[in-house]
Amino acid sequence: MGEAGMTRQIEEKRAEFLRRAGQAFERMFGADGQNGLVTFAEREERACEVGDELTRWLMTEHLSLDPAGGRSIEAICPLCGGPARYESAAQAEGELREFQTRRGKVEYRRAAARCPRCRKIFFPA
Ligand SMILES: [Zn+2]
Repeated sequence: MGEAGMTRQIEEKRAEFLRRAGQAFERMFGADGQNGLVTFAEREERACEVGDELTRWLMTEHLSLDPAGGRSIEAICPLCGGPARYESAAQAEGELREFQTRRGKVEYRRAAARCPRCRKIFFPA
């Protein structure tokens, strides 16, 4: 992906984040500043719920921009033992992974690595 493509992608994510943050604000404050939340426990529950959703979204989207899925960019080919490279997130075959964060589970697609000699595609452990 070119630099311009990445810039556009990040701006789209920023817009999506701000839209979601606006929804989170609405679910907390509504039109009257209270949104039916009365007790301390209700306010805490709602604030944590909308905050956790934003946190999981940030994790998921951040991982989606990393072709190695949060792992080292280096991979070793299981056939020849040589260095292999991750495909770019856009073109690669993906493997759906689940990850437990402190704010709940997130899913992300981890890209495959390809050995330039063997042409083998694999998912490093
Ligand atoms: Zn190889």
